[in-house]
Amino acid sequence: MWLLVQESDVPRAAQLMGRFITVEPDDTDSEPPCPCCGTAAPLVAGACSDCGLQLA
Ligand SMILES: [Zn+2]
Repeated sequence: MWLLVQESDVPRAAQLMGRFITVEPDDTDSEPPCPCCGTAAPLVAGACSDCGLQLA
């Protein structure tokens, strides 16, 4: 299902949709896995939070 709303209406739409809408993407799905250790977590200062490999 596609739901198009104005950016200013996102919080209200999210409230109306309740659990059926996910405003924030899941970190484990949105972050590419580290090529070194495979950890799919948000970068810390541009580096892998697990092994420390600089990725950005
Ligand atoms: Zn890593």
